[in-house]
Amino acid sequence: MTDISDHLEELKETGLYRRLRAVQGPQGPSVLLDGRPALLLCSNNYLGLADHPKIREATARAAMRWGAGAGASRLISGNMSIHRRLEERLATFTGRPSALLYGSGYLANLGVVSALAREGDIVFSDELNHASIIDGCRLARAEVFVYRHADMEHLAWGLARAEGRGSLIVTESIFSMDGDLAPLVELAELADEFDCRLMVDEAHAFGCVGSDGSGAVSAAGLTDEVDVVVGTLGKALGSYGAFVASSREVARYLINTSRPFIFSTALAPPAVAAAIAALDLLEDQPERVDRVRRNATVLREALGGQGFELDGSDCHIIPLVVGEPDSATALCDEALGDGVFAQAIRPPTVPAGTSRLRLTVMATHREPELRRAAETLGSAARRLGLVAAPLRAAAPLPPEPASGVFDLERAA
Ligand code: PMP
Repeated sequence: MTDISDHLEELKETGLYRRLRAVQGPQGPSVLLDGRPALLLCSNNYLGLADHPKIREATARAAMRWGAGAGASRLISGNMSIHRRLEERLATFTGRPSALLYGSGYLANLGVVSALAREGDIVFSDELNHASIIDGCRLARAEVFVYRHADMEHLAWGLARAEGRGSLIVTESIFSMDGDLAPLVELAELADEFDCRLMVDEAHAFGCVGSDGSGAVSAAGLTDEVDVVVGTLGKALGSYGAFVASSREVARYLINTSRPFIFSTALAPPAVAAAIAALDLLEDQPERVDRVRRNATVLREALGGQGFELDGSDCHIIPLVVGEPDSATALCDEALGDGVFAQAIRPPTVPAGTSRLRLTVMATHREPELRRAAETLGSAARRLGLVAAPLRAAAPLPPEPASGVFDLERAA
């Protein structure tokens, strides 16, 4: 029998104990955290839609029209037309014949990997793939070849030894904890050469990459080369749930074989309506996508000015790697004391020795508050001896675009 209290004690001793922090009110660019105001720099609500008035209204209307819950799996109590409507929108948006809704991104990854790989097959999985992909491999009972992060030589080496048993290559497009982009073109070439399916998890790219937010796969012109794309509704779209975009045949196959689709209650109608309203908003205001990118540039520049070493990317996910779990927690607490909240991310979410603050920007953050947050983080890191580098002047940025839309929304 697992000794629960021993295990909890061990987690505390190794700096890996987790606790929930209380938030009062919606997930905006700032929140009331444990009763104190804080700039929220670690949410995946990238486009700032989770608390948008139009999305809230659409969600409330849907609750009145469709009720609170879906009642059962769609195969059991019937396929509500609002689910079909969202699926059609998502298929069009991602440029694919079909989209199938899942309860969450976790369930979608679990369900797709385990449906597309079987006992006896080999799945090729990037070493930094999300826990839900890893768990999907476990559920599949397939053999798993974990290739070094984004290392195409290593992947090719593994594929060449698979002797036709390779069935699936799976990767994130934008990696959730590092913010780097997978080498999608090379992945597609290898999938083609070795006759494997290619599955790309766009959880952190959908809504944020490509001029219209349709994701990294379509931005790279690889829609026809990638067999299956997973996207979430709970991050950039500000709702909850996920979808799998694929051919019609793969969708039919998932409906018939994918356990989390078959054995779990369908998405709640208000969450579906929120995602539809979010797609409407994204189509009306594609500048939100640019805004996320620009805010990322602002924060990156400002953090560089504070002596943090960053990768050269322009992604909205910005890891501040500090190493040991206790250091990451100390930096998080120190910054939080000054009103900036960026949760410490520790193993097993990230590899040992790479604990970090994973900063994320939202379209609804204002540039001055991002610059101030960088100063707060810089001072906190210096107090803890985590950045040694002296301050250097940040490169000047072009003036902020004259748009009132974000400020208006924040006032709402
Ligand atoms: N894939 C990736 C890359 C993720 O980061 C996450 C969530 N953090 C998921 C899938 C799971 O998505 P959801 O939160 O909708 O379950």
